Amino acid sequence: MTKSIDRTLKTWADLLACPACLGALREEAETVVCMACGRVYPVMDGIPVLIAERDQAPRSK
Ligand SMILES: [Zn+2]
Repeated sequence: MTKSIDRTLKTWADLLACPACLGALREEAETVVCMACGRVYPVMDGIPVLIAERDQAPRSK
Protein backbone atom coordinates (compact mmCIF):
# COMPACT_ATOMS: atom_id res chain seq x y z
CA MET A 1 0.00 0.00 0.00
CA THR A 2 3.03 2.22 -0.12
CA LYS A 3 2.30 3.09 -3.71
CA SER A 4 -1.11 4.49 -2.90
CA ILE A 5 0.48 6.70 -0.28
CA ASP A 6 2.92 8.01 -2.84
CA ARG A 7 0.07 8.73 -5.14
CA THR A 8 -1.78 10.61 -2.45
CA LEU A 9 1.28 12.71 -1.79
CA LYS A 10 1.65 13.55 -5.45
CA THR A 11 -2.00 14.43 -5.61
CA TRP A 12 -1.87 17.00 -2.87
CA ALA A 13 1.44 18.28 -4.09
CA ASP A 14 -0.23 18.97 -7.40
CA LEU A 15 -3.33 20.49 -5.86
CA LEU A 16 -1.76 22.65 -3.21
CA ALA A 17 0.05 25.87 -3.84
CA CYS A 18 2.66 27.77 -1.90
CA PRO A 19 0.83 30.02 0.59
CA ALA A 20 3.47 32.67 0.15
CA CYS A 21 3.66 33.01 -3.61
CA LEU A 22 1.08 30.51 -4.90
CA GLY A 23 3.83 28.69 -6.73
CA ALA A 24 3.76 24.99 -7.49
CA LEU A 25 4.87 22.65 -4.73
CA ARG A 26 7.10 19.65 -5.00
CA GLU A 27 7.50 16.93 -2.44
CA GLU A 28 10.99 16.10 -1.33
CA ALA A 29 11.56 13.48 1.32
CA GLU A 30 9.96 14.81 4.49
CA THR A 31 9.36 18.27 3.15
CA VAL A 32 7.48 20.19 0.50
CA VAL A 33 9.48 22.64 -1.52
CA CYS A 34 8.05 25.54 -3.46
CA MET A 35 9.49 25.51 -6.93
CA ALA A 36 8.84 29.21 -7.35
CA CYS A 37 10.28 30.85 -4.23
CA GLY A 38 12.17 27.94 -2.72
CA ARG A 39 10.40 27.95 0.61
CA VAL A 40 10.50 24.63 2.42
CA TYR A 41 7.55 23.32 4.37
CA PRO A 42 7.62 20.36 6.70
CA VAL A 43 5.46 17.30 6.26
CA MET A 44 4.27 15.91 9.56
CA ASP A 45 2.77 12.43 9.53
CA GLY A 46 2.02 12.78 5.85
CA ILE A 47 0.32 16.13 6.26
CA PRO A 48 1.96 19.15 4.67
CA VAL A 49 2.23 22.08 7.03
CA LEU A 50 1.89 25.06 4.78
CA ILE A 51 2.50 28.13 6.88
CA ALA A 52 3.63 31.13 4.90
CA GLU A 53 5.65 33.33 7.20
CA ARG A 54 5.63 32.60 10.86
CA ASP A 55 7.50 35.81 11.46
CA GLN A 56 4.77 37.87 9.88
CA ALA A 57 1.97 36.03 11.59
CA PRO A 58 0.58 38.24 14.34
CA ARG A 59 1.41 36.74 17.66
CA SER A 60 -1.46 36.93 20.07
CA LYS A 61 0.01 38.55 23.13
ZN1 LIG B 1 6.50 29.92 -2.98
